[in-house]
Amino acid sequence: MPSEFDLIAQYFTRPAPDGVLGVGDDCALFPVPAGMQVATSKDLLVSGRHFYPDVDPRALGHKALAVNLSDLGAMGARPIGCLLGLALPTAEPAWLAGFAEGFHALAARHGCALIGGDTTRSPHDLVISVTVFGAVDPARALRRDAAKPGDDIWVSGRLGAADVAYRLLDGQLPADPARLAATRGALEWPEPRVALGQALGGIAHAAIDLSDGLLQDLGHILTASKAGARIDYAALPLADALAGLPEPVLRRAALGGGDVYELCFTAPPEARDAVLAAGARTGAPVARVGAITAEAGIQVRDAQGRPLADLPGGFDHFGPA
Ligand code: ADP
Ligand code: MG
Repeated sequence: MPSEFDLIAQYFTRPAPDGVLGVGDDCALFPVPAGMQVATSKDLLVSGRHFYPDVDPRALGHKALAVNLSDLGAMGARPIGCLLGLALPTAEPAWLAGFAEGFHALAARHGCALIGGDTTRSPHDLVISVTVFGAVDPARALRRDAAKPGDDIWVSGRLGAADVAYRLLDGQLPADPARLAATRGALEWPEPRVALGQALGGIAHAAIDLSDGLLQDLGHILTASKAGARIDYAALPLADALAGLPEPVLRRAALGGGDVYELCFTAPPEARDAVLAAGARTGAPVARVGAITAEAGIQVRDAQGRPLADLPGGFDHFGPA
């Protein structure tokens, strides 16, 4: 079993970017560009709660950072670096090597070097905590409280695949190996929309990343912005891999499915061309799915304009299982 310090040196120490003091001192040091603010966020992942203990460690390393980078994207921030906290029940070299590989590969692609952390033995389950730092011009930050009545509501990418993969793995949907193969990547290897978020700075008003389901996450924008929303159900961009599933499964996946890590954002109608251009420039499909209203509440309408009833809730860690 490697010592704590061998383990940090071998798996989690990489050369820091120029001008940055990385792993090895009491604190990391990094510069912040003039006029910018630091955007920072943390997500905790707990074994058995956020991932299956036997998940591919490379996928887990990727996802632990991806969910945090997704928050930087949702703020319109450019990644600077990250911290990794690990509470490990055991220190298996093969597991650590895979986890570190998945983590560092995504970090390198987004210029978000691992610059510090903490490593400890856990008497219980594996717990992973990542903190990210980014830089954002405060005048262009995509805050949840910035949506305005009349704004369009947009969603990036495609919805529902992660929810279906989770329910297949959890046995809530009948076994379907082909569909699991087609959806599992969305659950285990989410691609955070960091470039899109930055491209939307100065164009979009409010944004959030979809971690707990569209209705719930959009609800956070609405609460913060003191507004409501109308969603056109037929306009929601569902993943192709969901074709043929029963309507209630699709509805729950599209409106309530979590772990999506796409962006939901609002922008004024005059900005439609600019939003489409930002999506095209950053390789992110974007779909216009509704509008912000002055009246509170979310109304989801079918293709005939009739309100849908029985809307699914989103995920709540302290809610019913
Ligand atoms: P301290 O005693 O100051 O907490 P540690 O001995 O815990 O320092 O860590 C030594 C160095 O290794 C620090 O620079 C710390 O940021 C870094 N570090 C510890 N664990 C990790 C990790 N999992 N990933 C990246 N850096 C880490
Ligand atoms: Mg420490």
